[in-house]
Amino acid sequence: MVTSMTTKDAATTCDLAIIGCGLSGMAAALFAVEKGFSVAQAGVSGGMIFATGLLDVMGTHPIETGHGWVDPWAAVDAVSEDIPDHPYARMKPEIIKESIASVISFLGKNDLPYVKNGELNSEILTLLGTSKFSYYIPQTMWEGVRALKKKRPCLIVGFEELKDFNAAQIVGGLTRRWPGLRWKNICLRDTINVSSFVSGDILARDMEMPGNVKNLVRRIGPHLNGAEAVGLPAVLGMKRHRKIIETLSRELGVKVFEIPTTPLSVPGLRLIEVFTEGLAERGVRQFFPERIVSWKNTDGAFLLAAGRGTGKKWIRSEGVILATGRFWAHGLRADRDKIREPLFDLPVHQPEKRAFWHREDFLDLRGHPVNRAGLSIDDQFRPLNRAGIPAFEKLFAAGSILAHQDWMRMKCGSGLAISSAYAAVTAFSNMKAPHRKIPRN
Ligand SMILES: Cc1cc2nc3c(=O)[nH]c(=O)nc-3n(C[C@H](O)[C@H](O)[C@H](O)COP(=O)(O)OP(=O)(O)OC[C@H]3O[C@@H](n4cnc5c(N)ncnc54)[C@H](O)[C@@H]3O)c2cc1C
Repeated sequence: MVTSMTTKDAATTCDLAIIGCGLSGMAAALFAVEKGFSVAQAGVSGGMIFATGLLDVMGTHPIETGHGWVDPWAAVDAVSEDIPDHPYARMKPEIIKESIASVISFLGKNDLPYVKNGELNSEILTLLGTSKFSYYIPQTMWEGVRALKKKRPCLIVGFEELKDFNAAQIVGGLTRRWPGLRWKNICLRDTINVSSFVSGDILARDMEMPGNVKNLVRRIGPHLNGAEAVGLPAVLGMKRHRKIIETLSRELGVKVFEIPTTPLSVPGLRLIEVFTEGLAERGVRQFFPERIVSWKNTDGAFLLAAGRGTGKKWIRSEGVILATGRFWAHGLRADRDKIREPLFDLPVHQPEKRAFWHREDFLDLRGHPVNRAGLSIDDQFRPLNRAGIPAFEKLFAAGSILAHQDWMRMKCGSGLAISSAYAAVTAFSNMKAPHRKIPRN
């Protein structure tokens, strides 16, 4: 609860406050400003810094069979029927499509285009030398999808300085079904000014320095040997990635594509930058990096405290969307005996006892019950209190904090984050009293 009210009059007042700046929080902020609401958003970097940049809608169901779906919409239908409490079961597929299309349009307008294969998932190669199905693919990775499909002669290039990207491992895992796949490691520091061990984000910014792309062409060119496509780690620029890939393709005379890397993920960082800048331009008041530490609800309005001590700031809003993620992001906390939601103390759907959180076998195909813990919601995406009714009239929840889904195994992370954000904003919009003044208490 808010304890000190001394600065309450200096609060930022808005229609909707979004707590969290992962994909669900960013999408919620986008949908809310697009509907004309005034929006404030608080959070510290979310799962996007780790994410591959692929936007999955639905890939695997039932998880215990490992059944992968080429048609994500058929998979959404199946999961909605089999798991009636899954958040997807509360949305029509058209709504899920509309919400994702809206985010894709925003990303495209901000120079981060995504591509898909009609209404179907595309198969894309992974860092581990396997492949996975995903729905929307960053354009920088698209030629990799095409090369894999046609099994074109292809060279995967690793950089000696980027230790986590192992070109040999990628090729080793795929070579049986893709005989024309080869690999080569090149040393960048002979020609590009980088240190002997770099992370992807630093390398991506280095790639944008004058002359570095030409140097890269010089290093890769001699190893092409008939390759029609070249795959590189997804570090080809932070903002100028499209231009860099265009230049590489033109100068090498082959298709060039990126392959997702380990965290820090450059495609994830690109998403963060585009959302952060694009939402600021649209007038979202951003409280980054700040956590909401306490709250008060009076006369139907929320007063949220962001940050601590002298730097504490206040947000007053009519509605709140809780998009605080799971354990890593602190949206959920695992105590010794139970899982709790730390901010509003909302009840968390969870296994009866801690002993049931995990199955004995870590790799059990059914997944672990703890991964389906989370907030139970009503059809308006409002978290329920212990009496099973909405905890507050205008408190909504979105993203991975929701119960009854295991996004990692089901491969529905981004689709769920975006569509539940859309559902929550729409529900708020339907409830919002026109021209209602938020009381100043
Ligand atoms: C390693 C990894 C790989 C992934 N790969 C894919 C992929 O290939 N395809 C795909 O579709 N998806 C992928 N995703 C998932 C995708 O990023 C998810 O959609 C996402 O993680 C869930 O988003 P979220 O916004 O619900 O939660 P999070 O991203 O966890 O964000 C939660 C946010 O809430 C904030 N927060 C928590 N408590 C507070 C508080 N009190 N006050 C203010 N803010 C708070 C945190 O700071 C954070 O910003 C991946 C994710 C990870 C981690």
